[in-house]
Amino acid sequence: MTAIRLDAVSKVFEGEHLAVDELSLEIGDGEFMVLLGPSGCGKTTLLRMIAGLERVTAGEVWFGRTNGTRLPPRDRQVAMVFQTGALYPNRTVQENIMFPLQIAGQDDAQAGSTAVGLAQVLSIDSVLDRMPRTLSGGQRQRVAIGRALVRRPRVFLLDEPLSNLDATMRTELRQEIGAMTRDLNVTTLYVTHDQVEALTLADRIAVMRDGRIEDVGTPTQVYNDPATAFVAGFLGTPRINLMSATVRVTAHHRVSLDLGTQSIHLDPTDRRSLILRHHDGAQVIVGARSSAFSLITDQDTANRLTGTIRAFEFHGQQSIAFVHCGIEVVDPDKVGRTTPSHASHDGTHGAGGTPSILTRLRTKLAR
Ligand code: ATP
Repeated sequence: MTAIRLDAVSKVFEGEHLAVDELSLEIGDGEFMVLLGPSGCGKTTLLRMIAGLERVTAGEVWFGRTNGTRLPPRDRQVAMVFQTGALYPNRTVQENIMFPLQIAGQDDAQAGSTAVGLAQVLSIDSVLDRMPRTLSGGQRQRVAIGRALVRRPRVFLLDEPLSNLDATMRTELRQEIGAMTRDLNVTTLYVTHDQVEALTLADRIAVMRDGRIEDVGTPTQVYNDPATAFVAGFLGTPRINLMSATVRVTAHHRVSLDLGTQSIHLDPTDRRSLILRHHDGAQVIVGARSSAFSLITDQDTANRLTGTIRAFEFHGQQSIAFVHCGIEVVDPDKVGRTTPSHASHDGTHGAGGTPSILTRLRTKLAR
């Protein structure tokens, strides 16, 4: 069942700034959805509209079968955690966590014991009697999460909850958030611009740009078959190589991608090859992640690009070579917004059904 349905939701701020632009999205019951996108694309605004903290300019927000567009925040059964969890400074950790239950009319003993149980799950049971000012950033976020979850909300919204923590703490709390939300089976919408958080936590990722969604899918779908050049460029480190190419199809239906000064030959069994063989002469953008290349010096290898190594970086587990091949590269941030069909993920998105992204090219790079 669908827990949240956003139906052509828009938000226009004063001064006619369009922060969210007719955005539609469905989040399933118990699903962990990550909203990923660059700064200013409208992620927080969208979350605040779901929570009822921001008025929707147009469109509708549904919770299950209830139209929640105009419901006051307290009637939405939604809990939200921000970048820095705001705690009551004059209450202990336990009092902070149990407070929402007390407000709801639960007696102190019952609320206290629920808070202790949740604190154990969140590994903050040793600081239950401490005041917020004496806690580390990570502990504060755990308390904020505990306080948000204690009333078992229908929907849990998190707005970059890890961004103020150090790397070790981030990894630890990220794993715990993932485990806890799954144990509680709470529908979660998690905002971040950190792709590692998105790829590791999400059941599905929605990639936002300029107030709209460019792609929705499982982490594997969005990473391997991005709907647009922008999405391809946003996910993955090092950044994907995007190149302009013209499709060339031989009499035997062999497909090559003409990159101007060089070309790449596609494996005839590659499903992208099966699509492109009907598009001789089409202009496409080729996307190839660095993992699709290997450095070779063998001049006889048929499928290779030739270039000069400009830089070589050691990154511990891997090394990255930056190679200048004299090929025109495409900046994903400058490729216009398209309206992809989110459902397909078959690599055939783009204007007029022309394939715009071709990933995983099995090609060899020669020095
Ligand atoms: P970040 O990752 O930096 O937090 P975001 O994707 O969450 O960014 P939003 O905070 O939702 O983006 O902002 C979207 C756009 O709306 C931005 O251009 C922002 O300047 C604008 N905006 C947000 N809140 C307001 C407001 N109260 N009044 C006017 N404009 C606003």
